[in-house]
Amino acid sequence: MTKPISPTELPGAPAPVDLRSDTVTRPTIEMYECMRIAPIGDDGLDGDPSVQELESTAAAQLGKDAGLFVTSCTLANLLAVLAQTQRNEQVVLESTAHMYTAERGAASFTGLFYQGVAGHDGAMDLGLLENSLQTGGHLLKTSLVALETSHNNAGGTVLPLDHMQAVYDMAASRGIAVHLDGARLFNAAVALDADVRELTCYTDTVSLCLSKGLSAPVGAVLAGSQVVINKARKLRRMLGGTQRQAGIMAAAGLYATQHMGARLAQDHTRAQLLSTAINALDPQLSATVPQTNIIQVDIQRTAGTSALWVNALKEAGLLVRPWGATRLRCVTHRHISDADIERAIQSFRQVLAGPLSA
Ligand SMILES: *Cc1c(COP(=O)(O)O)cnc(C)c1O
Repeated sequence: MTKPISPTELPGAPAPVDLRSDTVTRPTIEMYECMRIAPIGDDGLDGDPSVQELESTAAAQLGKDAGLFVTSCTLANLLAVLAQTQRNEQVVLESTAHMYTAERGAASFTGLFYQGVAGHDGAMDLGLLENSLQTGGHLLKTSLVALETSHNNAGGTVLPLDHMQAVYDMAASRGIAVHLDGARLFNAAVALDADVRELTCYTDTVSLCLSKGLSAPVGAVLAGSQVVINKARKLRRMLGGTQRQAGIMAAAGLYATQHMGARLAQDHTRAQLLSTAINALDPQLSATVPQTNIIQVDIQRTAGTSALWVNALKEAGLLVRPWGATRLRCVTHRHISDADIERAIQSFRQVLAGPLSA
């Protein structure tokens, strides 16, 4: 398949290497074919067969009774929260989790309070977690604990299974549900060389993003018990998230869950190549050692800010994202080849030779 044309491509210049996110992945030819021939119906009326097939297949894959196809992982996480909490209760999660840093604005209309707990590599400190689950007096009732693996802001780190089990046991013993933000769950399972169910068994609900490394165009699945998913389905309608002939998109998602997980190991290998090369380039740059497909590059010992680095790298043919003032984030994915990693390293080398490292 030909490489996608990036909107930033200049006429005559080679397309930049795009490490901004694994969300830039386009559908495969096989996915387009699945979409073309997908049986479709009306998912807001009497059901869409392709959506139903995705929901039941993904639920089984995730070890849950039922699944719900939604437009985004953000919506899957929101529905998991709404379906398992009441107003004025508390959601507890690691303080750099995506649900906290990027999604907690939902609290302004859900009437919930989000309590962040400090952690390491995306794993909450268990002592601090236990403190935050205390009840009585002025303390809010915690009704949900959320985990994230792989952990985006922690640099694609994977939660150890014994950590997931410890959190689950602590929550379950208090009657608190556990949700897993598994936007990149398949990356985590590949890194652990485990079946996804070995991770999801420590959760009540789990979200899975179909449109990141798995390469589907849009969508996510929320999976859990039949009772919780029935509630989430009603809430999805209330929020305007019911889609009609959504089977066209679900067909791509079904292909993604069945065929796109295994190749993620290649993305992890290429992230390691990039990290090793950047760390060998210059002591001014320090890259995290990736467990999955994300690396963070610390540029604070250089003369540039992350914004200046992003622009300079773009000039040198590489797209990355600023991650705070002193770090860059690079994400490998299906459209990144070994040759692209070489080009990315060359771009870093080129910027280091210029004024930003003066
Ligand atoms: C991308 C991401 C989300 C949100 O996914 P969307 O499908 O873009 O809404 C949620 N959690 C994590 C960890 C993510 O990386």
